[in-house]
Amino acid sequence: MASVELRDLRKEYDRGTIVAVDDLNVEINDGEFVTVVGPSGCGKTTTLRMVAGLERPTSGSVVIGSRDVTDMHAKNRDIAMVFQNYALYPHKTVMENMEFGLRMSTDLSKEERREKVHWAAEMMGIEGLLDDKPDELSGGQKQRVALGRAIVRDPEVFLFDEPLSNLDAKLRTLMRTEVQRLQNELGVTSIYVTHDQEEAMTMGDRILILRDGIKQQVGAPKEVYDNPANEFVGGFIGSPSMNFLDVVVEQTDSGMILSGTDSNLRYRISPDVVDKFGVLKSGGEYIMGIRPEDVFPADENDPDAVEALVDVVEPIGSDNYVYLDLSGELDEGITTDEEESDFIARVDTEFEPEIGDRVKIEFSDDDIHLFDPQTGESVL
Ligand code: ATP
Repeated sequence: MASVELRDLRKEYDRGTIVAVDDLNVEINDGEFVTVVGPSGCGKTTTLRMVAGLERPTSGSVVIGSRDVTDMHAKNRDIAMVFQNYALYPHKTVMENMEFGLRMSTDLSKEERREKVHWAAEMMGIEGLLDDKPDELSGGQKQRVALGRAIVRDPEVFLFDEPLSNLDAKLRTLMRTEVQRLQNELGVTSIYVTHDQEEAMTMGDRILILRDGIKQQVGAPKEVYDNPANEFVGGFIGSPSMNFLDVVVEQTDSGMILSGTDSNLRYRISPDVVDKFGVLKSGGEYIMGIRPEDVFPADENDPDAVEALVDVVEPIGSDNYVYLDLSGELDEGITTDEEESDFIARVDTEFEPEIGDRVKIEFSDDDIHLFDPQTGESVL
């Protein structure tokens, strides 16, 4: 086992016209499980391939434990990688597939190798498949073999590149638990790339969020959910996405108001938390973020509640997604402009308004996020 450190790691393609990974600095602790997430093309795979030694950095370095492995060949790095497409040898049996890496990288006897394969097969529950060829296996079984092949080598680091994305939703959930169990039992430092923020949140001890090759935030799932470093992270983490509204701060006799510039929001900050909002400047413009699950139906007589028009109600079983129009033109009846209906409340199924209903909603001061409109950085 070992820590993994990425120091100013950079990868350019096409003579610098594409910066896939932009001076990335990350320290991953010994035994830690870090998920790497971000939209397509943000540099996840390139980062992983540089750690694996499959891609040469333009500059910067990769340190595993106390070894600078930047110039080291992939096979000497003591890592095992699991890919989305399983990468099994089609003509070899499961036993031969799992044994192959050991034959290449160790001088164990055949008996010792087989013993290790049996141990790994037992861990993965695939002992009954050892004589099968890959094309006789289901997708889930293939991925178990690929995982078994990775653990049999007893590496210092596991690298996972979207290993579950070819599996159906149910199997994917099951395999997530399997991968976590495996990592827990073996305690091997792991880097796990996924484009699925939910997967990243449920699996990682910490999450690294990338955008355009640039690190946006690294932190525990709850930390990035509760305190997103910027508007991008706020919108990327959580489902449905965080709602954003442009607001301006008004100081009135009755206290501080966040007033929507393109919505009818007039949100009064309660006096007992004004301190927290003290950093805000009167007249200052911000982007307010509020998560759909932090929006609640309010009493219709509550003067501080926010008025909204119901555009769509989407029942998802456990909750209802209520799409709301906060544009302020409440007198005009049902809106037909879908663009305006981008404020979502995730509410209890008991709250089941009709389309076109005028409702009141509220949220807690603690759940309000504010971002700088110029930089997108979190200011609160
Ligand atoms: P995805 O989720 O779609 O797999 P990703 O986050 O893994 O994306 P990368 O595959 O690392 O992203 O790619 C990062 C950027 O580098 C992209 O703009 C991509 O087009 C570019 N890129 C990757 N490999 C090469 C290459 N061999 N030559 C040129 N550009 C490349």
